Amino acid sequence: MADGLKSELFSIDRFPVSCLATDGARIIRFANARVAAQIEQPLADLLGRSLDVLMTPASRIFCDSFVYPILLEQGYCDEIALNVISGSGRRISVVGNACIHNDDPNLVLWSFMRADKRDQLQAEVLASRNKLQEQARALKTLATRDDLTGLLNRREFKRLFAQLVSYADREAAFVTLLLLDIDRFKEVNDTHGHQAGDDVLRQLGVAFKKMVRTHELAGRYGGEEFIFAIATKDAEEPRPFSYRLHEAAASITGECAPITVSVGLVCSPPGSNRLFQYLFEAADRALYRAKDLGRNRSMIESDGSVMPFD
Ligand code: GH3
Ligand code: MG
Ligand code: MG
Repeated sequence: MADGLKSELFSIDRFPVSCLATDGARIIRFANARVAAQIEQPLADLLGRSLDVLMTPASRIFCDSFVYPILLEQGYCDEIALNVISGSGRRISVVGNACIHNDDPNLVLWSFMRADKRDQLQAEVLASRNKLQEQARALKTLATRDDLTGLLNRREFKRLFAQLVSYADREAAFVTLLLLDIDRFKEVNDTHGHQAGDDVLRQLGVAFKKMVRTHELAGRYGGEEFIFAIATKDAEEPRPFSYRLHEAAASITGECAPITVSVGLVCSPPGSNRLFQYLFEAADRALYRAKDLGRNRSMIESDGSVMPFD
């Protein structure tokens, strides 16, 4: 094949890439046919115009602050992502490379390809990543929270309790476990209906959630029983906490109000047995006694005996 024919066959206009050359003033000195097709402007209109005016303001800033300095520094710049404005005013994403011409350092050679599909793909990947994160958050809530009250469920409470104990061991702090049971809740349901009963549980959930601070846990153990754990510097701090539990119960409103609760607790000093089951059984015995003594009170088990904790 003759060289002339070959160069026609492999003319730069036939390649599926936009090629441009700009001079030191960023004026377009050369553009192949693909440029005109891609940015929807006749070739004749492009030649002699500044490359800057084809770009969005953000892309111009990007070129000024990143592309041109790199071209000056190393003679080429790869994977440049820019936005250009088409003849019909559309924003087109392109990605390309640029280099300084070997024979004339004033000339910059550019090659660009459309990147709309890449951008679209990136947007889709981003959207599905956000959706996945949202689903993961929802799943975590489902797995760790009680859906009626929004408090920790039993399993999550136990998991976080172990962490609280580790913290308390490190800090030589007391750990107090409290069990709370609504008084005569069956009567509430029987008198006002199950929905009204649910509303009481929900209101308590809101009130308890507001109470807990760092190193304090609030959970729904099941039914109308709630569970709390706090780490404190001394054995007296749980007293106002327990008092506030009764206040929270007294604060509920609606047809079922007023309601009262009974609380059983155990306060474990640093260095003592802090296994969940061991403390739970002690708090449960104290709660049983609170019910036995007429309800609406807190009882604490300490050294094998149970006493009021008001
Ligand atoms: P006590 O003072 O001895 O604790 O009496 P009580 O009536 O509260 O205790 P009991 O164990 O006899 O009844 C508990 C009631 O709690 C019965 C059950 O219907 C109700 N309950 C448990 N879970 C829920 C719930 O999710 N929603 C509603 N509305 N009621 C519940
Ligand atoms: Mg109960
Ligand atoms: Mg009860």
